[in-house]
Amino acid sequence: MEQNYRAINIVSNNKPLSLETARILKYKLEKNDFIVPDVFDYNAELIICIGGDGSFLRTVHKYGFPNIPIVGINTGHLGFFQELSPYELDEFIYKYKRGEYFIDKINPVEGIICTRKSCIEILGINEIVIKGDKSTTIHLNLSLDKSFLEKFSGDGILISTPTGSTAYNYSLGGSIVDPRLNLMQITPIAPINTTAYRSFTSSIVVPKYSTIKIHPEYRYENSILIISDGMEYRYSSIVEIQIKLSELEIQLMRLKEYNFWNRVKEKFL
Ligand code: NAP
Ligand code: MN
Repeated sequence: MEQNYRAINIVSNNKPLSLETARILKYKLEKNDFIVPDVFDYNAELIICIGGDGSFLRTVHKYGFPNIPIVGINTGHLGFFQELSPYELDEFIYKYKRGEYFIDKINPVEGIICTRKSCIEILGINEIVIKGDKSTTIHLNLSLDKSFLEKFSGDGILISTPTGSTAYNYSLGGSIVDPRLNLMQITPIAPINTTAYRSFTSSIVVPKYSTIKIHPEYRYENSILIISDGMEYRYSSIVEIQIKLSELEIQLMRLKEYNFWNRVKEKFL
């Protein structure tokens, strides 16, 4: 690769504002001697994703968790991941060229789902959710490393990364986690806690080196729905689901002034 080959991938959703922003951004980057390839280039130095949080998540999944820094331009609703607005393109290019940014490395959560036939691996930037595919209660035997923890009964459980703590996890009453803490949060979804069934009703926080094992108990032929970052996978006859923090890293580009708790206040309060 040539030394001065400086390519930047632009990935956009199909909203008119996103497409328009992508067009203007491409023009501006090219004027600054960057190459904006037509097809995704794995040798690029940066990915700019235009859309909301969902677009951000889908981009990372679609390109297989690339080892390239990524920054987002928000044209969505919330845009918790997105660092920039469509009105800050010149300012961004200026700061980028001067190196006025830092890279935040985050680990996704990894799930290994084994049926009687085979195992597949899935990754979640925000979370992995395990729930019943029908409306009946599901029962999940939960172990932490080598110890049995509980038989969960309810709608399901969610395992969130610190990054995902502000997403679905938060709506379920889970805690917002400072990104300096590397951990997983197991948050119950409508846990039943009666004399018939006993489940923990709060989130459980476990260290990054834990392995969570889930053995579904099959009653009423309920099959299991697994959702990672909003993407659904359906399985029947799952024997075991193993969940841990992945060693893979996603590189989020942040502007110098980024501060997690300011972002939380800005978006939530
Ligand atoms: P979506 O239904 O549009 O997402 C729901 C909301 O979550 C959107 O406002 C989205 O932002 C926001 N969001 C996503 N990641 C976030 C994060 N890390 N921190 C704070 N807010 C975040 O679906 P989507 O856009 O494809 O996103 C998928 C995510 O939605 C899943 O990973 C899950 O966490 C979340 N979700 C939440 C609920 C709930 O709260 N009841 C239910 C299902 C899924 P944008 O508006 O910018 O897209
Ligand atoms: Mn969305």
